[in-house]
Amino acid sequence: MNIQNSKSLFFNAQNFIPGGVNSPVRAFKAVGGDPLFIKKAEGAYLYDEDDNRYIELINSWGPMILGHNHPAINEAIIKAVENGTSFGAPTAKEIDIAELICKMVPSVEKVRMVNSGTEATMSAVRLARGYTGRDKFIKFEGNYHGHGDSFLIAAGSGAITMGAPNSPGVTKGTAKDTLLAPYNDLNAVKEVVEANRDEVAAIILEPVPGNMGLVLPEEGFLQGLRKLCDEEGIVLIFDEVMTGFRLAPGGAQEVFGVTPDLTTMGKIIGGGMPVGAYGGKKEIMDFVSPVGPVYQAGTLSGNPIATAAGMAMLDYLSQHPEVYKKLDQTGSRLVAGVKGTLDKMGLDYTMTHLGSMYSLFFTSEKVVDFETAKTADTALFGKYFQAMLKRGVYLPPSQFESLFLSAALTDEHVAHILEANEASLNEIV
Ligand code: PMP
Repeated sequence: MNIQNSKSLFFNAQNFIPGGVNSPVRAFKAVGGDPLFIKKAEGAYLYDEDDNRYIELINSWGPMILGHNHPAINEAIIKAVENGTSFGAPTAKEIDIAELICKMVPSVEKVRMVNSGTEATMSAVRLARGYTGRDKFIKFEGNYHGHGDSFLIAAGSGAITMGAPNSPGVTKGTAKDTLLAPYNDLNAVKEVVEANRDEVAAIILEPVPGNMGLVLPEEGFLQGLRKLCDEEGIVLIFDEVMTGFRLAPGGAQEVFGVTPDLTTMGKIIGGGMPVGAYGGKKEIMDFVSPVGPVYQAGTLSGNPIATAAGMAMLDYLSQHPEVYKKLDQTGSRLVAGVKGTLDKMGLDYTMTHLGSMYSLFFTSEKVVDFETAKTADTALFGKYFQAMLKRGVYLPPSQFESLFLSAALTDEHVAHILEANEASLNEIV
């Protein structure tokens, strides 16, 4: 595979951009080799600067659930641009998207738009603190909530592989208010709450974590957290930046039937534009400025282009429920196919899967939390990643990320991916 152009771009980029990238995992550090520079994307494909074509299994880390360059979204963006790119004033479209979000995610009664998932989680925790008058919050090891200071404690995603789970720059003062518990361990959460009675403002979690690879909530875990929060006056925040509008129109909370107090959203909600949102119970959301005392603002929040893209995406998804069925089918076929090969070869592995997200961990342990996820053979994953890439399949460049499928994947793509999988595994083990 010729990637000369990508190589020289990467070389040049490092002169002007830290590490040559604007977000760490893109540098391929966890899997070795040079990152590909992408020129364009269409449907299920990415094209790099050397004109190599890849089947996409990242989809911009989630947003491109319909595949790239979807006409419904592109047309909405182009139409919006004709009226100007930013006003910093309210627009009618912002009401439309807020109303649609509230309809799709019934626990969200009011919603505030922001510009990224990071902003959404930072704002939601601030709001929970302001609302409860308490300072501490609980997060789970290996869950990732963006790069807000108070979340960079035992954080997942790139923070695992970049070797900075407790990033320098996060002060001890900030860190002391972030309490940790292992995912799926309700008793541990209860103990933390017990030890910090009346001090815990919020419990924030990825209801289905995708940032330590995909991990599923065990029976009763989400329900148990809901009950605990009710008993203790704690705000339950579901971070659905990845899972929102992906696992179902109403996200993981719809799939598991557990209702959080606040929900953070991102990725799909922007149709590929930089958007996030947080919303939930009216009573809590009305604590946000200008009605309430908790300050949160944004020059470009509710930006007309981003809003048009997000609206087109959510509109499409709410009117085409068959998309979710197709994604589930594609996911099930891929997972069954990959498992079939692994079983035939007698390899140790664990696969986790829900709808259009799945992970293949190279470990014999059942993966239920960060500790068990970390038993995976990351060196072997690196080889698998490179072998797949060589065969035209673009996987997330880390063992600790979920795959994201798009509705643009066809039977032919599935067949190609499964062939590449078998050939790759045969090459590396
Ligand atoms: N929360 C979760 C669950 C995420 O997966 C991410 C990003 N991968 C974020 C928050 C942060 O979102 P952003 O990168 O848009 O700031």
